[in-house]
Amino acid sequence: MITGSCGCGGIRFEIEKVTALTNCHCSVCRKTTGASFATFAHVRSARFKLLIGEDLINPGYEWTPGHARSFCNRCGSPAPKFVEATGMVSVPAGLLDGDPGVRLSMHVFTSSKVPWVDLNDDLPKYEKWVPGFVPRDLA
Ligand SMILES: [Zn+2]
Ligand SMILES: [Zn+2]
Repeated sequence: MITGSCGCGGIRFEIEKVTALTNCHCSVCRKTTGASFATFAHVRSARFKLLIGEDLINPGYEWTPGHARSFCNRCGSPAPKFVEATGMVSVPAGLLDGDPGVRLSMHVFTSSKVPWVDLNDDLPKYEKWVPGFVPRDLA
């Protein structure tokens, strides 16, 4: 089991298996994390278990109706979120305690990448959404 938690430990979860790790360079991820890009671990919902802290998860500001980034009400850490469009839980990878066992598989929203980050790896790079995974209401 891979475990994870928010900064204050009020939200704790365990993961049976991480399907993929992606770097998202979109402006929403940058602004909600404060980082140059956000790394997410994508987990099938059946393989994700929230242990404690459901009451601490703030659903977050809706930057467009129905779309927000959750965070911990107590410490402000980003929090795992179920994503309708993919049927998976997006877990901010920095919350993980150990090695998820997979390595980065792609970059998305490279059209919004900050100028001080260079992408010198051979991973697939998508200017926006991964083709085939565009949320219907944002297409
Ligand atoms: Zn917290
Ligand atoms: Zn993003």
